[in-house]
Amino acid sequence: MMGRLRPRTVGTRMTKSLLSKMQTRIETITEESLAEAKRIILEGGVVGMPTETVYGLGGNALDDAAVQKIFAVKGRPADNPLIAHVHRDYDLSRLIDYDPPYAKALREAFLPGPLTLVYPSTGKVSRYVSCGLNTLAIRVPAHAGAQAFLKEVDLPIAAPSANLSKHVSPTSAGHVYDDFNGKIALILDGGECMGGIESTVCDITGEVPVILRPGLITKEMIAKVVGACEVYTPQLQSGEKVKSPGVLYKHYAPRCRTRLFSASALDEAVEYAKECERKGERVAFLCDSGIGKKILCPATVLDLGGTPEEMAASLYARLREAEKICDRLILIEPTDRTEKMVGVLNRLHKACASVDVPH
Ligand code: AMP
Ligand code: MG
Repeated sequence: MMGRLRPRTVGTRMTKSLLSKMQTRIETITEESLAEAKRIILEGGVVGMPTETVYGLGGNALDDAAVQKIFAVKGRPADNPLIAHVHRDYDLSRLIDYDPPYAKALREAFLPGPLTLVYPSTGKVSRYVSCGLNTLAIRVPAHAGAQAFLKEVDLPIAAPSANLSKHVSPTSAGHVYDDFNGKIALILDGGECMGGIESTVCDITGEVPVILRPGLITKEMIAKVVGACEVYTPQLQSGEKVKSPGVLYKHYAPRCRTRLFSASALDEAVEYAKECERKGERVAFLCDSGIGKKILCPATVLDLGGTPEEMAASLYARLREAEKICDRLILIEPTDRTEKMVGVLNRLHKACASVDVPH
């Protein structure tokens, strides 16, 4: 069944050879760099852009070739749809066919911010954006640099996270550079992302909002505004067509071997670390500050912080650090089970999955 979920990626030998000769510049956000970014976008190119969640790889959502270029540069599977990003004053009726009754309340409560809304829509942007689905995911990021860029271009910008497909998402301009040096012309540097995990993706095509991907805007927060909210779990055995193909792919994985332990199995994890070290592996732990203090063995401890917000903000940077310093990363599940941890735990589990898994 998983074979069906691995379609070819979009791209040609021609685009690949052109892309490989490019010089990549990281620029702080100024009038000049925004004008340069606009020029690249209008010419059909892609630009690294900051948001409050993770960095995006943006291209003109109205331009078929630009959207195909995003898929090619990232190596993204051709059935994994993109989110269209717009500035706060953008007229949504230019993009959607129908505005569901409770959508306004959600926009007023959470936007601009880390919530992506999936609307019924067809034909208003490049067909490659939604990969054949009859919906369009739209996000209005809160990051000032993202807003400045989106205002400058005044176009819907299709932007997946700016990492090579399946690699860890980027939370700094340097992370984007590490994955795309030589492949894109410009990265707008808006500093480190405050949110750290990708937006909550929420389908609003039905009577009740349905979360397709958890994030820092939680089910409880949405239910408080509109009275109800459900969480989607794909029932693949039934042959149902998956609503959000991205949930099926392995994501966020560091380039080192990983193993996840629950906090209650800490002693076992320490024994396992010693065993790996005896075999000559460089070992590091990744865990929250509370658990970190209890690890009494010489292996490096990468600290995620203590609160859900700290853990979300630091997770991807720590995973990228881990792949540089160790062969074996031992992740210890944080014990915090409050609502904001749903998104953090989802990413942590996906980072450790050795095969493509649903959440
Ligand atoms: P990324 O751009 O890497 O943050 O991933 C975007 C996520 O949004 C993926 O999980 C996609 O499957 C999901 N997504 C984008 N567009 C849609 C859509 N029209 N319907 C459902 N999910 C979507
Ligand atoms: Mg992504």
